[in-house]
This record gives sequence, C-alpha cells and structure tokens, in this order.
Amino acid sequence: MHVVCLIGTSRCGSTVLQAALAQFQDVTALGEVKRLSTLAARGALCGCGAKIEDCEIWGPQIAGFVAPKGGRLRMLGNALAVAAGAPLFPAEARAAQSLSRMLHAIDRSKPSRVFIDSSKDPDQLLLYANRPDITVIPVHIVRDPRGVVQSAGRRTGTSADVMARHWHRLNGATLMLRKMMPRLPWQSIRYEDFCADPMAVCRTILRAAGHDGPLRDHPAIDHTLGGSPGFSFAGIDTIRVENNWRETMPAQMQTTILRQSGWPARHFGYRMES
Ligand SMILES: [Zn+2]
Repeated sequence: MHVVCLIGTSRCGSTVLQAALAQFQDVTALGEVKRLSTLAARGALCGCGAKIEDCEIWGPQIAGFVAPKGGRLRMLGNALAVAAGAPLFPAEARAAQSLSRMLHAIDRSKPSRVFIDSSKDPDQLLLYANRPDITVIPVHIVRDPRGVVQSAGRRTGTSADVMARHWHRLNGATLMLRKMMPRLPWQSIRYEDFCADPMAVCRTILRAAGHDGPLRDHPAIDHTLGGSPGFSFAGIDTIRVENNWRETMPAQMQTTILRQSGWPARHFGYRMES
C-alpha cells in the first residue's frame, strides 16, 4: 500500500494539491486523517456531505482509531527511532498500528493504488514510516511565507507574527526530519511551482508512489476529512497561484515576515527580490 503523506503549514496549498492528485485513477484522498476523532466528536461533515460518524468510509473506523500523543520531544524521539530502525514510543506504535488497520479496511471497501493523507503534520509521517506494510512518500509542500501570512490573516485573522513563527518551526522541523530519514522518497514542492504546472507536479508525486495512471473519467466521491471550509475544486486546469500579497503587502512587512521565517525561507529561495 502506498500513502502520499503531505506535510506543510496551514494555508500552504495542500488542499488544492490533494484535490489535484485525486483526479487520477485509483488515487483516494483521505484528508486530515489525524483529526478523525476530533472532527467526528465535533459533529463535522465528511467531504461526501454526511456526518463523519454516518459516512460509509469513516463511520466504521472511529471506534478503533487511536490518536498519537504528539509533542515536540516525542516527535524527536520517534524520529530518532525511525532513523535507527527502532520501535516507536508505545503510544505512537499503537497509533501507527490503528492507522494501518484503518487504511487496510478502507482499501478493502474502496480499493486504491495510492492514498493521500493531508494531515500536514510531520508526526503523521513518523507513524507511516515505521510500518512495514506501508510505503510512504513524504511530500513537503512549501508556500512563500508572505502568501501564507496573508491567506491566514484573511481566513482566520491569525497575526503575521504567529504565522511566520509557525512557518519557521514547521518547515525547519520537516527539513530536519528529511535529513534524519534520507532513505524515504522525499518530494519537496513549492506551491508556486505546483501552480505553474500542476499536472507535471502531480505526475512526479504519483510516479514516486509507483503510479503512472491516467486521469479519471468522472470525479470520485469526496470523502476527505477536514480541509478548508468552502473549498471547491473546479479541475486541474483552473489552478492559479494566489499571490496578490505582491501588490498589497508593504515592503517592511515582507522583510519582517522573511526574517521571522528564517533559514527555511532562504532554503526554499523566498527572498525580497523574488
Ligand atoms: Zn464520506
């Protein structure tokens, strides 16, 4: 079983990337798997429109779902374990086992060559990476921090300061994980490059998952968890980069965001001239 595990900040474009990948045959988008119990407890809806507990895909999975404990130190410990081929902490080992059980059950009811997990959290990758029955393809999606800040400000009112630090922390941690686990078939994608040629980026990701199939004739029923409220996908051809921060964001604010985003921003080529 192949799982593409998307990792990135909020507002990084993972929802549109996931939707684009799901246009290919035998690819099933699962959404933010990590949040299954939280979303179900809140009475949230699955992408199919049913309450998660009533959805034919997710409903039967809720009872057996074990969430990982998480936390930064545990993540580091688990990352070292994965890198050394050692077992995860017991709580995460149980979570990984329940995740694998759940995906195999979903695969039986909805056979797929590739599943997409858009939990976006590096912790989720560690759960997959230690499972012998799952081939995980980590996809690190990165968006210009100025675009992330503007998008988050509009969507949730989160401050630029908070978002830039979140950007630095998550992308820095992911780059370190990549160093620690060089044997995984990592893909790094800039949101801006994805929007410039979404078809090529999707094909590269799917080839890394051993899949070279065609686009679907008809869209699949959407059973994704979480995701952006109000998001609707009109097709790969309609993907356009959203970067109007370039026109509206004062230069001084841009400088501050780039400074707070630190070395990961420089690593991905985000700078004032760009
Ligand atoms: Zn559903």
